[in-house]
Amino acid sequence: MSAVAVIGAGPAGLIAAETLARAGREVVIFDQMAQPARKFLLAGRGGLNLTHSEPLERFLTHYGTAAEALAPAIEAFRPAALIAWCEGLGQEVFTGTSGRVFPRAMKASPLLRAWLARLEALGVTLRRRHRWMGWDDAGALRFATPEGEVIYRTSATVLALGGASWPRLGSDGGWTGLLSDVAPFRPSNMGFHVDWSPHFSERFQGLPLKRVALGFAGETRRGEAMVTRDGIEGGVVYALSGALRDAIARDGSALLHVDLRPDLDQAKLAARLSGRGMSLSNQLRKQAGLSPVAVGLVQEARHAGDATPLPALIKALPLRLTGTQGLERAISSAGGLRFGAVDAHSMLHERPGVFVAGEMLDWEAPTGGYLLQACFSTGVAAARGLLQLVAR
Ligand SMILES: Cc1cc2nc3c(=O)[nH]c(=O)nc-3n(C[C@H](O)[C@H](O)[C@H](O)COP(=O)(O)OP(=O)(O)OC[C@H]3O[C@@H](n4cnc5c(N)ncnc54)[C@H](O)[C@@H]3O)c2cc1C
Repeated sequence: MSAVAVIGAGPAGLIAAETLARAGREVVIFDQMAQPARKFLLAGRGGLNLTHSEPLERFLTHYGTAAEALAPAIEAFRPAALIAWCEGLGQEVFTGTSGRVFPRAMKASPLLRAWLARLEALGVTLRRRHRWMGWDDAGALRFATPEGEVIYRTSATVLALGGASWPRLGSDGGWTGLLSDVAPFRPSNMGFHVDWSPHFSERFQGLPLKRVALGFAGETRRGEAMVTRDGIEGGVVYALSGALRDAIARDGSALLHVDLRPDLDQAKLAARLSGRGMSLSNQLRKQAGLSPVAVGLVQEARHAGDATPLPALIKALPLRLTGTQGLERAISSAGGLRFGAVDAHSMLHERPGVFVAGEMLDWEAPTGGYLLQACFSTGVAAARGLLQLVAR
């Protein structure tokens, strides 16, 4: 019998390949890039937040409307299993104060090196610069390579082609025309545009807004944001990015509220702000304890004519978001192959013998380890589905 093909050498494809090879299947991985797992390596630059330590029930809520569809895969390959797998490759993990789990090395490269060596030892082959182009009339896989078209006959296939963010790292969403029932890709976990004044943008771009709380549509998230030349980004912004993106698509803009002193209630803040004999910026800095960027934000609001009393303004500074940053720099994407296109074994209804895993499926989640966990879990689920349904 011919080998199993795994297309896409990101975390979802690699863990599917490992699961299949451990079960004794011959596996060939194809990827269009010269190097595997480019996005995984980039994720490592931010510390590689592998997963999260909170209870599974709460963990699953972060997938929103896709939670039900993802639950069987995540329950079958849980955060604890991912941690054990990582440590099995010699990369000890630690849990941060926020509950996020990282490898101690805080990068992906040692983990990936050990992983690729393990795959090689299991007999898995990696074919680079093979861009999947669909199937020929006989159902064989078609690849474009620098040497021309290659046709590959398989016993079964796992597609793990990724989403559409950071397309230059390989996951460019070019496969969407090859499958049916695909929801359009949209950026997720990305920054937003704000029409800063030239003065504010010049002075504060690149500076963090630490320990703030952002509020939108009844949800509040605490954390750190970053002022950019034309907007705002960072963890706390990403946490609300799905709702903000959808509101902008619907209404043209979205009004975010920034609490610049989340640890101080408005009455205490009002008591501190006596105002006597002080300039606005001194009051904000010395009495309200705001950082220079936060002071700049309040002044920006005042220059735009916002006359809200100072304590209320500091607790809920309105920020009009006028657009989203694009897929080129988004951490992840929403959209992809709808869950209705696959069965309970992750197999395509329209193509028996073809299984699907990872970010190419239509789910989104905030940062915090939820993205990689779902990629690993669905990679394992697709491989197990294949092992159950496709005889050797
Ligand atoms: C800056 C950044 C930081 C991140 N940090 C984190 C983090 O800390 N924690 C976290 O959980 N997540 C993080 N992520 C997200 C995470 O990296 C992705 O969710 C994950 O890599 C997706 O895995 P995947 O295997 O589904 O797809 P990918 O990793 O995107 O891999 C898909 C592979 O398929 C290949 N491919 C695509 N189309 C074809 C084709 N037609 N033919 C052949 N090959 C093809 C691509 O070349 C690619 O190698 C981060 C992402 C970014 C961009």
